[in-house]
Amino acid sequence: MPPVLWIGGPPGAGKTTVARLLARRWGLRWYSADAHTWEHRDRALAAGCPPAVRWERLSRAERWAVPSEELLAMSLHHERGPMIRDDVRALPAAPLVVAEGTPVTPQIAGTGDRSLWLLPSPQVQRARLAERGLSRGAAALYRRLLREIEEQVREHGGRVLTVDGRRGVRETAAEVEELFAAALAAGPVAGGAAERRRLLRYGNRAVVSQHLAFFVRPWAPPDTGTTVYPFCCECGRAGCEELVELAVSDFPAPPDAASPPLLAPGHRAPGGPGLRERPALQGQPDLRWQPVLQGQPDLQGQPVLQWQEDQGGER
Ligand SMILES: [Zn+2]
Repeated sequence: MPPVLWIGGPPGAGKTTVARLLARRWGLRWYSADAHTWEHRDRALAAGCPPAVRWERLSRAERWAVPSEELLAMSLHHERGPMIRDDVRALPAAPLVVAEGTPVTPQIAGTGDRSLWLLPSPQVQRARLAERGLSRGAAALYRRLLREIEEQVREHGGRVLTVDGRRGVRETAAEVEELFAAALAAGPVAGGAAERRRLLRYGNRAVVSQHLAFFVRPWAPPDTGTTVYPFCCECGRAGCEELVELAVSDFPAPPDAASPPLLAPGHRAPGGPGLRERPALQGQPDLRWQPVLQGQPDLQGQPVLQWQEDQGGER
C-alpha cells in the first residue's frame, strides 16, 4: 500500500479543491472517492446491500424525497469506507497518495498525523451548497453528513480543520499543507515532469470515467456530450495550477500513454524535468471554490450538477 494522506469531510468542505491543489504542488496521486462512486455502488449491489438496492430502484425524483436518515443510509457512507481502503491499497507504491472523500472515516484513515477532516461551519456549508444549486433533498443529506462526520471524528479523536469562511481556498490549502508537512517532506513525490503528467492524466481520467459510469446507469438521462469540466492542465510543470474547461466528450481518448497531454493555452509539455519552483500558496489571488461541473444544462434543463447529487456525494 502506498503512503497516504487522508482528507475527509462532508460535501461543501472544499476537500477536492484542496486535495487537487496539494497533489499538483507536490506531485502526488490524487485519489477521489467520488470517482469510484459507481464501482462502489455496484459492489454494494452485488453484496445485496439493502439501501444500495433500494436507491437504484427509486426514481431520481423519489430518492430526494425520502427522510434524511434514510438518505444517509442510501448514500452508503459507512459501507464505502472499506472499499476506499481497498482501492487505495491497490494503487502503486509511489508516489504519496492524497485520498479524499466524504466516506473517508477515522476507521479507515486512522487519527494520526496523516489524516484530517475539513468541517465547514453550517453557514459555510449552506452557502456552498446554495452555490451549487442543489435540491432540498440533497442539501438535507449533505447537512446530515456533516453531523454524522462530526460525531465520528469527535468519537475517534481525529484532527479537524474548521472551514469557517474567513479563509480562502489558498489559505485553507496552506494550512492543510502545514498540518501534513512531515508526511509531505517524507514523500515520495513525483520525480519529474513526465511522472507529473502521468499523475495529472490519472486524475483527469478518473473524472471522465466517473462521468461515463453515471450515464450508463439504467435510470440516467441520455448523455448529451456537452458536460464541461475544469480539468487540470497536463503540462507537468511544478508550478502549474491552470484548469482547462473542456467537454468531457472532447477529452483525449485512451490509451493515455499514447494520447497528447491536455494543455492550457500557452503551456507546453517538454520532455525534460519539470520546473522546480513551487510558489507560496498564500499571498496569491484566491482560487474560486470550484463547482464540480460547470454550466451546461442537461436534458431536463437542470444544471448538470444534478449528477453529483445522484452520487450521494460530491466531487
Ligand atoms: Zn500547465
